[in-house]
Amino acid sequence: MSSAAPYVGRFAPTPSGHLHFGSLVAALASYLDARHQQGQWLIRVEDLDQPRSIPGASAQIIQTLACYGMHSDGKILYQQDRLELYEAQTELWLSEGKAYYCDCSRRDLAEFEGIYPGTCRDRGLPAATNHAVRLTVPDQPITTLDRLQPAFTQNLATSLGDFIIRRRDGIYAYQLAVVLDDIAQGVTDVVRGADLLDSTPRQQWLYQLLGQPLPRYLHIPLLLRADGEKLSKRLGSTPLDHAKAPAELFRALQALAQQPPDALRDASVAEQLQWATAHWQPQRLSAAPSLPPDPLFG
Ligand code: GLU
Repeated sequence: MSSAAPYVGRFAPTPSGHLHFGSLVAALASYLDARHQQGQWLIRVEDLDQPRSIPGASAQIIQTLACYGMHSDGKILYQQDRLELYEAQTELWLSEGKAYYCDCSRRDLAEFEGIYPGTCRDRGLPAATNHAVRLTVPDQPITTLDRLQPAFTQNLATSLGDFIIRRRDGIYAYQLAVVLDDIAQGVTDVVRGADLLDSTPRQQWLYQLLGQPLPRYLHIPLLLRADGEKLSKRLGSTPLDHAKAPAELFRALQALAQQPPDALRDASVAEQLQWATAHWQPQRLSAAPSLPPDPLFG
């Protein structure tokens, strides 16, 4: 990545529910990192999995982000509108022999414990609507360098095997869409939750196949409750109360270990964002944050 490239960051929510506190924290981290570097910040709706998308959730997420002062600098992209791009790339890799059709069922693969054994790689299966498409992976270590996390190395061949880029039901995989869209949108910086760190070597492999420079990565620690338990969908699924936006934003800044001064507690959303942009220190996140107390999550 050329250091001269202007910063472009993004928040890429999946519309499978409301924006909850954990996602607010992730959105805020990506927003502050972009703004602190005078960068652009984009929203992209990752609605690939239509059966699991909840009607109205995208609009609600975008509206909630707006209540917290975060607006996309460019047109909001919806992955549903981009299926042709994913298809064209998949077809290209199929024609080049870099990807292949696979008809293995879950049951066929059960004994391999999540590592695809390459069953269909050389079978030359023809196109069929109920075949998945897998991408071949190299038998070599891929290392993710992150601004915060220790280097993470994975050999895709030995830890996953050839992975799916289009499912049997025709739905394109997150791994494929996220990379094609980040490239198309000129994203230079990916700031997201550390739960996605172990997807990153797969994504780096896609960048390599596409001959594109990698973005910088900043994976923020997952929010834990004070008792150390992960903030689960169930616990964190309470919708954010728009009326309490300033107070929730203050808690989100605390959760990001930014140490907002007490005086900011009653400030408006705009004032808090202004302070937080100027004082953004992502390295503070290396001390794993825990969720600031709130009766809602107690
Ligand atoms: N859509 C993904 C999610 O909601 C995030 C993708 C990303 O930031 O790369 O978990």
